[in-house]
Amino acid sequence: MVFNIFVLIKNCIIFILCFVVLPCCVYGKEVEMFDILIKDGIVLTINGNNEVLKGAHIGIKDKKIAYIGKDDNLLAEQYIDASDKIVLPGFVNTHTHVPMSIFKGIADDLPLDVWLNDYIWPLESKYMDKETVYKASLASIAEMIHSGITTFNDMYFFENEVARAANETSIRAVVSETLMDGKTVNSKNFVEGLAYSEWLIKKWQGNDLINVGVAPHAPYTASSDLLIKAKELANRYGVIYHIHLSETKNEYNTIKKEYNSTPVEYLDNLGVLDKLTMAAHVVYLEKNDFDILKNRKVSVSHNPESNMKLASGISPVYGMLRHGINVSLGTDGVASNNDLDFFDTMDIAAKLQKVYYMDPVALNAQEVVMAATLGGAKALNLDQYVGSIEIGKLADIIILNIDDMHAIPLYNPFSQIVYTLNPADVSYSIINGKIVMAKGNILTIDEEAIKESIIELQKFISNDLQ
Ligand SMILES: [Zn+2]
Repeated sequence: MVFNIFVLIKNCIIFILCFVVLPCCVYGKEVEMFDILIKDGIVLTINGNNEVLKGAHIGIKDKKIAYIGKDDNLLAEQYIDASDKIVLPGFVNTHTHVPMSIFKGIADDLPLDVWLNDYIWPLESKYMDKETVYKASLASIAEMIHSGITTFNDMYFFENEVARAANETSIRAVVSETLMDGKTVNSKNFVEGLAYSEWLIKKWQGNDLINVGVAPHAPYTASSDLLIKAKELANRYGVIYHIHLSETKNEYNTIKKEYNSTPVEYLDNLGVLDKLTMAAHVVYLEKNDFDILKNRKVSVSHNPESNMKLASGISPVYGMLRHGINVSLGTDGVASNNDLDFFDTMDIAAKLQKVYYMDPVALNAQEVVMAATLGGAKALNLDQYVGSIEIGKLADIIILNIDDMHAIPLYNPFSQIVYTLNPADVSYSIINGKIVMAKGNILTIDEEAIKESIIELQKFISNDLQ
């Protein structure tokens, strides 16, 4: 019996050596089996040296980027042919109100205060509920995935439904409940809003895709008491503080009159500005404001289309970048854009700075792509995980076609992305190491069903408003 056991163990060792260890060791090196191998792409790494690698492969294993290089003898469960395609980190949309897509085109061509007071807020109180937030979020998420967005940073109401939609469709999101002094569609007062925010933080803690922030709406809709309490909550959990800041001349004048300081100085005096603060818009700045934003390490979300449509003004983002301030890009909500096309956002961001500074050098294509990827990840405090193609980072990667008539010839991939391509050119989207879109088809969403539900909602709202 003892003899038999020894023979058995010996045979097992021989079997493991011959059939497991030896085949895995070719020329002394272990042959790794990747989950996904993206082959032969033009890879924009957005790493520290901003390397562009031609004909490179990217190996993905256990959700992470495990290999970048040109070894042709690699094995994987799944291969994606990226020859003659651009491969880059997914876009990070740092300012959205995704459920507002249901109000697309319902109230256009109005100033911000009239648009908000007379149209958007009454519409929200009448039609926004959990179910509408969920359905409209799904529609926006589908549009964003088509546009190459792999992370979005949302501020709205019933944010748990936004998180649910994002989690189900496998897109990365930071969600924050909008906090205002008065009643909102989801809370009687800001105390309830803060309690909901804390519940949301706890609920999604540890989730792979969903992060939660704290979002007081703006200095003109949130009292100093709320602004401070919201920051205390954000600090308690180490999460981002998402706020509209210095968006319009009206806001600037109101704060200046009331507190004898600019909106940026006002928030700084309250002690709520630091590297976890993500300020959206930031259009009206005085010289001292640049120093405050830089010294406090505040990140800015530039929303050029919304600022143009509402005639809010032009944010001096080229100046901010030159000053060492981290700038990212956002679409804002669809009601003030009126889509979630990130290629439009990048294109307009670049061109608008050139007009503002009367300088064609202002905000070049490479700076725009940086802001759209790593700048966004940094703004959301996610840059150690996503925003560039580097070994060890989570695989949030998009692959762009460059063979359509409008996309050729190609001399400079950064220029092509910012000035030439559009969402129809986004072929693949990989988020958290999972293929979410392949050859332009989203795999995690039933787009037809979502379209039907949105048209149904639109008919209901249209009939009701008559
Ligand atoms: Zn906004």
